[in-house]
Amino acid sequence: MTTMDPSVGTDRARALFDEELAGVTSAAALQDLRNRWMARSGSWVAAFMELVASAPPDQKRALGRGANTLKKHVEAALAEREAALAATRRPAGAVDITLPGRAPRLGCRHPLSLIREEIGAIFSRLGYQVLEGPEIEDDYHNFEALNMPADHPARDMQDTLYLETPLTPAAGDPPTRGLAPRAPQPLTLLRTHTSAMQIRQMERHDPPVRLVAIGPVYRRDSLDLTHTPMFHQVEGLVVGRGVTLADLKGTLLSMATALFGPGQDVRFRPSFFPYTEPSAEVDIRCIRCNGGGCPMCKRTGWLEILGSGMVHPAVFEYVGYDPDEVTGFAFGMGIERVALLKWGVEDIRLFYENDLRFLEQFGR
Ligand SMILES: [Zn+2]
Repeated sequence: MTTMDPSVGTDRARALFDEELAGVTSAAALQDLRNRWMARSGSWVAAFMELVASAPPDQKRALGRGANTLKKHVEAALAEREAALAATRRPAGAVDITLPGRAPRLGCRHPLSLIREEIGAIFSRLGYQVLEGPEIEDDYHNFEALNMPADHPARDMQDTLYLETPLTPAAGDPPTRGLAPRAPQPLTLLRTHTSAMQIRQMERHDPPVRLVAIGPVYRRDSLDLTHTPMFHQVEGLVVGRGVTLADLKGTLLSMATALFGPGQDVRFRPSFFPYTEPSAEVDIRCIRCNGGGCPMCKRTGWLEILGSGMVHPAVFEYVGYDPDEVTGFAFGMGIERVALLKWGVEDIRLFYENDLRFLEQFGR
C-alpha cells in the first residue's frame, strides 16, 4: 500500500494506483482501494483537489486538469475491475462441485440383533425352521396348550401383561384340532415366551417338526441389572419318532460351541416346567475361566444359560399329536443372557439405552 503524498504529482500517483489495482483480487480489497483513492476527504483524489483549491491562480488550470484526469482514470479503472470481479463471483446458493463429498455416517447392527441372527443362522444350518410369530397372543396358545391350566402360578397377573381389547382370530387361522380351549376366552396378552409359536406350528403341521422361534417377549418385571419388561427369547422344538434327551444334549452342545467357541461342555440340572417332563436347567462351562472358578460364574465353573426338557405328553394332546407315536424336546433361552455372557456385559439396561459409544463396539 502506498503512502499518500500528492507532491509526487498526478502521473506518479496514477502509476501507483495502477500498481495497487493490479494486486486487488476481492471485492473487499477493491472497496478498500476505492476508499483510499476516492473518499471525499483524506484520499489521494481529495488531496489533489485541495492542492488545486489552494494553488496560485496562474497554476490552477494546469493542476486542475491533471487532478481531473487522475480522478476519471481512477473511477473508470475501479468500475472496470468491479465488473470483472462480479462476473467471476458464484451466484448465491450455487453448489461448489469442487468440494469433497460428505460421507454418510454408517450405522452398526445392534448387539442383540447380532446375537439373534447368529442363533438363527446356527439353527438354520442344523435344518431348523426359523419363525417369529405374533407378539400378541391368546391365553390358549401362551398358557393352556402348554399344559398351564387356569390356576398355574406362571399365569399370575403380576407376571403377565394382559390387554384390554381381546384378540380377534386372524382370518385363515385354522381351527384348533386338539382339545378345545378351557380358559375363559378370549383372554389376550403380550406373549410371555415364544413357546406359543410352537403350539401354533404343531397345530398346523404334522410331525416331524424342527423349529426355533425368536423374538421379543414381555413380563411384568421391573427394570434392574438383569431384568427388563421386554426381552428376547429363542425357543427350539423338535418332534418326531425316537427323539431323545441325548438329541437335546447334543443339539445344545452344538449350539454352545457355535456361539462361544470350541471346548464347550453342558450339564443338566433337574428342574420343572409345566410343558416338559423331565425338565432341566442347562449350564455351560464358564466361558471366562473355563471351569476353574471366577466372579462371573460365582466360583462354580458353570454358567446357567437355558431351560429345556422333553415335551410333556399333555402338550401333544393339545395339538392333536399322539404321545405314543412321537416324542420331542424343547428349550428356551434369553438372547440378552447370551449377549451378557458372550461379551461380559454386566448391566442389561445398556442394550436399551441407545448410547452409541456402547452399541458401536460389537461389529456391523
Ligand atoms: Zn468362571
